[in-house]
Amino acid sequence: MALKINKNYKKIKKNYIFTEINQKKSNYLKNNKNAKIIDLGVGDVTRPLNKNLVEVMKKALDEQTHTKTFKGYPPEKGYEFLKNQIVKYYKKRNVILKNEDVFISNGACCDVTNILDLFENNIAVIANPTYPAYYDSNFLQGNKILLKNLNKKNNFIFSPKNLKKQSYIIYLCSPNNPTGAVLNKERLKQWVDFANETSSLIIFDCAYESFISDESLPHFIYEIEGAKTCAVEIASFSKMAGFTNLRCGWTVVPTQLNINGNNLNEMWTRRQCTKFNGVPYVVQKGAYFSLTKKGQIKCQKNIDYYKKNLKILTTCLTKLGIECFNSMHSPYVWFKCPHGMSSWQFFDLLLEKCQIVGIPGIGFGTAGEGYFRFSAFAKRKDVLVACERLKGIKKD
Ligand code: PLP
Repeated sequence: MALKINKNYKKIKKNYIFTEINQKKSNYLKNNKNAKIIDLGVGDVTRPLNKNLVEVMKKALDEQTHTKTFKGYPPEKGYEFLKNQIVKYYKKRNVILKNEDVFISNGACCDVTNILDLFENNIAVIANPTYPAYYDSNFLQGNKILLKNLNKKNNFIFSPKNLKKQSYIIYLCSPNNPTGAVLNKERLKQWVDFANETSSLIIFDCAYESFISDESLPHFIYEIEGAKTCAVEIASFSKMAGFTNLRCGWTVVPTQLNINGNNLNEMWTRRQCTKFNGVPYVVQKGAYFSLTKKGQIKCQKNIDYYKKNLKILTTCLTKLGIECFNSMHSPYVWFKCPHGMSSWQFFDLLLEKCQIVGIPGIGFGTAGEGYFRFSAFAKRKDVLVACERLKGIKKD
């Protein structure tokens, strides 16, 4: 008998959006060899790691050369020194966690998708547009997907108001990629109440929490009463500390989180022990440093740099008469394509006329059509040149 293949891989869009864009970019470069493209597309950090953090990691690596301090496999759930520091990080926002609630991961992307291992045949509620991994992983697993359209009218935020009262896996991302929208406490409370009432699970992706500037806005879902019984939180060192290459994040699965009598913390522990062999000691040492007082000051410097880029880009687009949304608490500016252009029309125009790459809103879902995303993870000089070049689109 032939092997049975997951047919959903055949049904899913062939390319991940970022792969498609990279292909377009390299095709353009083949025909325009001297073009100096400015990439404001893929949201990857550009600032180097700070030297102190690297020193800490070098020291940790050096420990591996001594019998006494050599380390083998890391603990599947992470080293206590890092979990302690994460617990302290939450305490600053009055959230009390236990070390057992925290799982160190090799990044948020893996965990927002891997968490589906604990479930089968469910309905996932996902925003449209969305960070593609939520949609794709649910699609590949064969889950039903209920898309909730975001638009200018709802401020790119959706609520549980019109949802049928049944159990769902609900994906919330705040600050949001790609729209930059942030859920305030009232909005989040509505979701927490709905999830507790319907035995739903919220998967709260806070990969960009360190970009929040307004201290009254929640960084973590556990700032909301009742969240520990209905939500898993997924966080990352990628954008906060520049770990997109090093790979480290954390996932909070509170010990009191039970879904229909099943303890998710126990299940996730079982899953991680079977399928995950932990994050390198050296990387966890670096992650630890980034959460210390000194480390946070260093990280904040880079975040401020990116946020200044964002401000420059947003001001430039606004001056060109382009409508921008929510560009305050994330590294992204989400905007309406000018002159009623479609997302891909604007992508092509930008590439041809300005040699700038961004992400077409439709790449994040059908409701993103007519919108566009720029990333502020770029060198300042590139952002300034991009702003000059963008003036070129006005003439059309
Ligand atoms: N979640 C969101 C919303 C993201 O935008 C990203 C990366 O861009 C991730 C998760 C992935 O983060 P990591 O690098 O930790 O895998």
